[in-house]
Amino acid sequence: AKAMGRNNYQFYTQEINKKDNDRLTLETDLRKALDRDEFQLHFQPKINLKNGKVVGVEALLRWKNHPNVSPAAYIPLLEETGLIIPVGEWVLRTACNQIRAWQAEKLPALHIAVNLSVRQFSQKDLIDTISRILNETGLEPYLLELEITESLLMDNKESNIAILTNIKNMGVRISMDDFGTGYSSLSYLKRFPIHTLKIDQSFVKGITTNADDAAIAGAIINLAHSLRLNVVAEGVETQEQHDFLLQNDCNQAQGYLISRPLPAAEFETWLKARNA
Ligand code: C2E
Ligand code: CA
Ligand code: CA
Ligand code: CA
Repeated sequence: AKAMGRNNYQFYTQEINKKDNDRLTLETDLRKALDRDEFQLHFQPKINLKNGKVVGVEALLRWKNHPNVSPAAYIPLLEETGLIIPVGEWVLRTACNQIRAWQAEKLPALHIAVNLSVRQFSQKDLIDTISRILNETGLEPYLLELEITESLLMDNKESNIAILTNIKNMGVRISMDDFGTGYSSLSYLKRFPIHTLKIDQSFVKGITTNADDAAIAGAIINLAHSLRLNVVAEGVETQEQHDFLLQNDCNQAQGYLISRPLPAAEFETWLKARNA
């Protein structure tokens, strides 16, 4: 099954990079997927490294027909076609509803992190969309965290700063995803209302085997603490990486060591077993 998943992934990745013809087919398939409710969210826990408690989840998009294909393979096409706007809204609403459902079942309070594409910032009603979804679902704003990437800040548009400031004023948190992989100057950390830095998994991968990766991860953790930001390591796969991060005062961890992203029902079972 694992090998099949890999082939499937490669197949679709190639498919996207192939001829325009195939892109058109994929675009049509993605439109249908949205209409027919073929998207799904998987949830991956984040833990507090000091006490091991599950503090929140990241919502990750999945296509039911192609569960082993990473959204990284089709998100660029969703962005180019503008489909990311309705899909992104669906993701946000579904994620907030899921947390409310877990609250109703008396599961321990969980933060929900949702990935936002840069493209979503060029829609003029992003703020309205977020506040409408918070109202509709009744989710407390502080439980919502929006993960953005450095590319958003590289544009350095005043409008992006204004939107992020608006989001922050709603009480919603902003997390800088894949931190350290972009090219922007660090000064944006001062200008943008960021709550969390996520150390990119490419650095986490080498923290126990590569001195440079260890130095970079350590520097990001120190930087985050100096600026009073929360810091999360993603892609944590081994106990050694976990221990390094704990010793170096990283706040939270996320990765296969703790759990893979899971469908809602499986995540619930996983969480209950862990807390039992
Ligand atoms: P990301 O936001 O950096 O998410 C982390 C990716 O790493 C996820 O891949 C996750 O499944 C994977 N991962 C988690 N733990 C581990 C680990 O221990 N080892 C390894 N090797 N990988 C791990 P996924 O789900 O395939 O998503 C890929 C990217 O697609 C995401 O990267 C994000 O940029 C984007 N994405 C996913 N869902 C959404 C969405 O709803 N909206 C938008 N705009 N982008 C999304
Ligand atoms: Ca993310
Ligand atoms: Ca990431
Ligand atoms: Ca990434």
